[in-house]
Amino acid sequence: MKKVLIAALCAALVICVAAYLRDDGYSQTEYMLNTVITITADDKAAVAECFDEIRRIENLLSVYLPDSEIWAINSAPAGTPVKVSQETFDLLKKADEYKRLTGGAFDITIKPLVDLWDVAGEGYVPTDAEISAALELVGDIILDEENLTVTLPKEGMAIDLGGIAKGYAGDKVRQILLANGVDSAIADLGGNIVTIGRNGNKDWCIGLQNPNAQRGTTFADISIEDKFVVTSGGYERYFEKDGQTYHHIFDPATGRNPHGDTLSVTIVADDGALADALSTACFVVNSEQAIALAESKGAQAVVYTAQGVFHTDDLSIHMEDK
Ligand code: AMP
Ligand code: MG
Repeated sequence: MKKVLIAALCAALVICVAAYLRDDGYSQTEYMLNTVITITADDKAAVAECFDEIRRIENLLSVYLPDSEIWAINSAPAGTPVKVSQETFDLLKKADEYKRLTGGAFDITIKPLVDLWDVAGEGYVPTDAEISAALELVGDIILDEENLTVTLPKEGMAIDLGGIAKGYAGDKVRQILLANGVDSAIADLGGNIVTIGRNGNKDWCIGLQNPNAQRGTTFADISIEDKFVVTSGGYERYFEKDGQTYHHIFDPATGRNPHGDTLSVTIVADDGALADALSTACFVVNSEQAIALAESKGAQAVVYTAQGVFHTDDLSIHMEDK
């Protein structure tokens, strides 16, 4: 099996060059949360504080680090309540709310399928029986608010915050920059863009990656001020087998890539974790449902499909000529 591309090193969004290369901004790039993160702001100490915070979040929430709280939850025997911090509990509760809000399209218990398809590794096309068995493990986790415990009821169940953690970290980055008095900044957490204020006297200009073209080729740009912009796309991480492409986002109802024709979804919102969960969920559902879902949470959406580009009305978007 030929692994064509693991684009973990690349952001899903392309920030317009003019906006990104501010000559007055300090910019730092680090590899964290399994992706490349760049923060640009006028305050070097505040940027360093942001990276310390992202590292802390990674240590808390990573599925790969044996000391993380998510690791503890995933490795406990079935039915054993695992005590977690208030912070982890609150994020899991939020993820659970987003599961209900999206009719199950966003579901952090997707991990058995993520492991089965192994898109981040060699890539594997499972049998129907293997998919059915993994789907048995996608379900509800038990959250005990009083005791701050999390229980996975079935042996083999596991959670994966890959669809929300970067957005959550984006919320923290924004809080830290604002607390330090930064009034204009931009951060890119692997396709999760955080903006503060405006870019000088202009809005921030965010270019949206064309899913069918080389990385860095955009199909549109959007103008925003003080918002999160989060994109989910099948082109971000995928492998090819027998001429067929398989990517990293799964429909929790089928255990397979969504069967619709959506190629990418961009969400614009005031909350990073919400934007991140919505972008993943909106990629799973069809374009009509995606627009309705975004609108139901006061967010904006751009859905790139094989049939064309759809977006919520209230968005300042400039489509590029084909
Ligand atoms: P994103 O790039 O934010 O759309 O997140 C994709 C990542 O979230 C994947 O790499 C998986 O780790 C995880 N994931 C895949 N499908 C889902 C889903 N339906 N709900 C929640 N997380 C998912
Ligand atoms: Mg997401």
